[in-house]
Amino acid sequence: MSFPLSRRIADLQSSDIRLMTRACERVGGINLGQGLGDLPTPPSVREGAITAIQTNRNRYSLPEGIGELRRAIAAKLIRDNALDADPEREIVVTPGATGAFAAALTALFDPGDGIVLPEPYYGYHLNTIRLCDLDPHFLTLQGPGFELEEAALRSALRPNTRAILLCTPSNPSGKMLSEEEIRRVERVAADHDLLVITDEIYEYLTYDGRQHRSPAAVGGLRERTVSIFGFSKTFSITGWRLGYVVAPEPLAAAINLVNDLLYVCAPTPLQYGVLEGLRAAPDYFTHLRATYQRKRDLLCEGLAAAGLEPLIPNGAYYVLADIGRFGYPNAKAGALALLEQTGVAGVPGSAFYRSGEGERLIRFCFAKEDAVLREAVARLRRFRPAG
Ligand code: GLN
Repeated sequence: MSFPLSRRIADLQSSDIRLMTRACERVGGINLGQGLGDLPTPPSVREGAITAIQTNRNRYSLPEGIGELRRAIAAKLIRDNALDADPEREIVVTPGATGAFAAALTALFDPGDGIVLPEPYYGYHLNTIRLCDLDPHFLTLQGPGFELEEAALRSALRPNTRAILLCTPSNPSGKMLSEEEIRRVERVAADHDLLVITDEIYEYLTYDGRQHRSPAAVGGLRERTVSIFGFSKTFSITGWRLGYVVAPEPLAAAINLVNDLLYVCAPTPLQYGVLEGLRAAPDYFTHLRATYQRKRDLLCEGLAAAGLEPLIPNGAYYVLADIGRFGYPNAKAGALALLEQTGVAGVPGSAFYRSGEGERLIRFCFAKEDAVLREAVARLRRFRPAG
């Protein structure tokens, strides 16, 4: 039977993140492609969820999440993000930051609305924008600094632009927006009455003493910002699918309506697990940063030694490496050859760029055990030029 598929998905393809994971599994390789996060989950988080299951807290929660968790999130937002949010009206717990993003786009925009997407971008952002029939306006940021310039942002706007998406620290570049760059966004958003949507899932993974700055905490942005966070990376629970949105009340209410329709609620016992995680002493986060910084350095030094020049990331747990000198016709051919020759999988840079710039790049994830990273680094030295 040939049944026509939805027009909304006609041009969408599964991400190369998936392709490389499957290809890597076929050869039993080391997967530095997908951001899987191999670190152990803190015992308190695991036990919080197990206890909730064993004590039969297995039913639906309110669509916006359990009250205790929203109150703990509000305290965390004050402590770590300088954000004041009402846990009853301005915080919605969602199935991951991905669920938050889908619910936010569905609730806040109409088909044809435009949204500025800085490039390199996370492919799921682009494809979810497309799935919602929105119009992505690309704003290419140039490496290695990926500076967000006000004039470039202004020239990315079109008559239908309604929002600007900010992923900081960024997947895939690790770029962290500075206060000054966020002020540029604030000026442009105020001049054109735009919303700002953030993805701050890597907020705790920042290096060399850098501090994450939440866009909503800068100037007057709070009133026009939908801030999206998640627990996947912070507690190494990428499979749990738990995140949340912070937004002014009318926006949060609309997002919660869609969250209810799409998901009913985020998994209740797992919400109890992250509640325990949020009670962790602040040194958990210091330790997390130090652990990831060591992994970043280990992988970046190894990439440099293997001739895959890394663009050292300031945050998140990925590094873009330049494979241009190996002479492969494009990033996918390079990534597949790398997997074949070394058994190490990365994601072709083209998955993060609409323009050709990604064709010289491969993204590697360093959220792996040190021993796995060391083995990967040793293998990367076997990579040979095309032909
Ligand atoms: N965020 C992770 C990545 O960029 C995982 C994404 C996914 O599997 N969709 O690799």
